[in-house]
Amino acid sequence: MSLVSLTHSNIKAAQGQVAIVGAGPGDPDLLTIKALRAIERADVILFDALVSDDIKSLFPSNAERIPVGKRCGRHSMDQEEINQLLVACAGRYRNVVRLKGGDPLTFGRGGEEMQALAAAGIAYYVVPGVTAAAAVASYGSIPLTHRGISEGVTFVTGQGKGGRAITQWQQLAMKDHTLVIYMGIARSETIASGLMAGGLSPLTPVAIVSHASRQSQQVVTGKLDELSQLAQDERVQTPAAIVVGDVVKLTSDISWFEPDLALKKVGSQG
Ligand code: SAH
Repeated sequence: MSLVSLTHSNIKAAQGQVAIVGAGPGDPDLLTIKALRAIERADVILFDALVSDDIKSLFPSNAERIPVGKRCGRHSMDQEEINQLLVACAGRYRNVVRLKGGDPLTFGRGGEEMQALAAAGIAYYVVPGVTAAAAVASYGSIPLTHRGISEGVTFVTGQGKGGRAITQWQQLAMKDHTLVIYMGIARSETIASGLMAGGLSPLTPVAIVSHASRQSQQVVTGKLDELSQLAQDERVQTPAAIVVGDVVKLTSDISWFEPDLALKKVGSQG
């Protein structure tokens, strides 16, 4: 893409451009071609903790790597610092990549980075990525919608700004609907009781899918009233997403992904 076609490029032509890129759920084959091209020509890559090692191995050897990851409340850099760093990098490098897990604009704070870059007059573009819900659906074999079972899907976070609990669980208790809850494991008890108070049956099927699309993927299924027990008993690894709805029942008949298959094959050859 030429700089000329980018917004703001005529304002400060000497500056670099920033690509805000979705890295998907972990499997490098799930990167888009556009994401891979942006990575390959990057002079500097600022990446999150959710970006997998397999994807990091695709970084050009001469590109500067800056981990800015946050994970489970351990903030190595706060969002304001990341925004400032992005602006500073654009002043120093031609091709800046901001690589984020999943999709940058789905619980990814990509919008805040766009605001910061727009305010600084820096050219940027956004490359969508496979968001966790899509990976959980395909690799966990849980259709998000299904004729006669679920007419819609809601993506929602289990934790609001500053780690606060969100309170609208009762309103989210909808019939013939699927919920995909990001960042919800630590609040599974509140989530389940709120949804039941809103009218969802305690028998509503639920799934917790961790490490979707990776060889370490784990899928645990059960009923809504045992959600927090499931999360504890199975010692669910993070990142993990919760799916609530009758679509979870389908997985037992249509499941296809065997996470440890490749590892088993390697083992049997040796
Ligand atoms: N922008 C990301 C979401 C970041 S928020 C995206 O679009 O996917 C982090 C949350 O995403 C985690 O708490 C978890 O709920 C979910 N998540 C990210 N990667 C995941 C994966 N591989 N498997 C399951 N859930 C995942």
